Amino acid sequence: MALAAITDDRLESMNPATGEILGSAPVMSSDEVTRIVREARDDAKDWSRLSLGERAHHLRRIRGAIVSRAEELARLVSAETGKPLPDALLEVFAWCTFLTYAAKAGPRALRPSRVSSAPLYLKRATITYEPYGVIGMIAPWNFPLGIPAQVIPFALLAGNTVVFKPSELTPLTGVLLAEVINSAGRRVVRVVTGEGRTGEALVRSGVDKIEFTGSAAVAKRILAAAADSLTPVVLELGGKDPMIVAEGADVAKAARTAVGTAFTNSGQFCMAIERVFATRGVYDRFVDAAVAAAREIKQGTGIDANLGSMTRPQQIDVIERRLADATAKGARVLVGGRRRVELGQNFFEPTVVVDVDPAMELMREETFGPVLPIMRVESVDEAVRLANESDYGLNASVFAPSTAEARAIARRLVTGGVNINDAVMGSGIPALPFGGEKSSGYGRLQGEQGFREFSRWKTITEPRFGKMSVAAATFTGKRPKPKTLLKVMRLMYGRKRRG
Ligand code: NAD
Repeated sequence: MALAAITDDRLESMNPATGEILGSAPVMSSDEVTRIVREARDDAKDWSRLSLGERAHHLRRIRGAIVSRAEELARLVSAETGKPLPDALLEVFAWCTFLTYAAKAGPRALRPSRVSSAPLYLKRATITYEPYGVIGMIAPWNFPLGIPAQVIPFALLAGNTVVFKPSELTPLTGVLLAEVINSAGRRVVRVVTGEGRTGEALVRSGVDKIEFTGSAAVAKRILAAAADSLTPVVLELGGKDPMIVAEGADVAKAARTAVGTAFTNSGQFCMAIERVFATRGVYDRFVDAAVAAAREIKQGTGIDANLGSMTRPQQIDVIERRLADATAKGARVLVGGRRRVELGQNFFEPTVVVDVDPAMELMREETFGPVLPIMRVESVDEAVRLANESDYGLNASVFAPSTAEARAIARRLVTGGVNINDAVMGSGIPALPFGGEKSSGYGRLQGEQGFREFSRWKTITEPRFGKMSVAAATFTGKRPKPKTLLKVMRLMYGRKRRG
């Protein structure tokens, strides 16, 4: 059973930290989804006609609406996920940051851009970015506000409306988010609630593009559904992010960074550090510092807690399976490793594990829980090889004594982003494109690319002088002789040509 009780036509949302029932939302049928997408298409007519500047202005109004209801939004996120209130507020903060960036950078990123028309100098060449129409967004439960913040401001600025499908575990946050956005004076986001079937109905509903953030397993089903209509899809999927700690690095800082990132959001974080590769000379000190830092973590529901409950009870079963497999193969749990029933049904202790090896599930599969496995390696070369021996490639962290050394390691990693002497920074900088490699997905959110991802690219050529049609002259007029063509080719690109 999912956290929310699901009947044929209702989802019940429950606070995973307390067991309190928070409310319910409908499980929408495919007919309802199709109707809502049609309505969103009508909404898009007016919205897309606005200039980029007018859309940017409206995004600032949405920001105002979000700020004025920040506490209500954060309290609901905290209740539906079990995360501490300050963590939930950071998600509201992310909305302000991303809306501000979208309003400022979007109009420039989507301005028609002139490019060189070489070798057809008689032409002018321009790329324009136009709205798709309706973007369908399907989201997970771990950051019910933070993840749509990476998508919706960009899709809206690009002139689309959005039909948003929140996770079945956090439906009420999705409904409230749309209500707050639309309270700024225009209906630009509609919500469809339900589980996988509703998500699949959205993929098949005729939306113009799908943005999916979630697991690789569901991504494959989404691609299969999208194949019928060749609907384009952007995928932001899971991770198994490595941290490499080289000889001479600041070990104490690396350990605190690993602990902070592995346990943020109870490890239910696509960019959590899930594998540490510490070189021989720093390994013991790293382990000691990580254990000490993990012991300082305060778990609970209070305002001063830095670790809340798990959102999805089944995830605890996954963690326990991974730990059982690892310990049966020789791993040792130094801190944590058990449920904390005295706090509630869904709390799991921050856990540090050593003596792991790459064959263990704990080092291969995404755990999505507060578990930090640390492995001793002989060299940076071995660390890089093991870091790349993963199905995933979302993000990575590198600690080395000098930035130059860390950059050299960063260049060798097959991953969407690397944080030097830190972790997870990339997703918090709206101007940086965000996305993964391999099973972590494809396409990019954020940055200039984030606006263009939700735009149709069109190339336009026009005569630079007069009204001459080169095609008419070349194909129907007098054809150039092969001898002339060869001469021109040698002149333009022959051996003596440098550029
Ligand atoms: P999930 O894949 O189980 O579900 C995600 C969404 O897909 C939910 O809304 C769900 O209802 C919907 N869905 C399920 N089946 C569907 C189908 N057949 N067709 C269409 N939609 C369907 O993921 P989750 O458990 O909600 O979230 C955890 C996963 O998300 C982890 O793998 C995590 O790493 C990943 N994630 C990735 C990022 C990123 O930016 N790369 C961010 C957060 C989470």
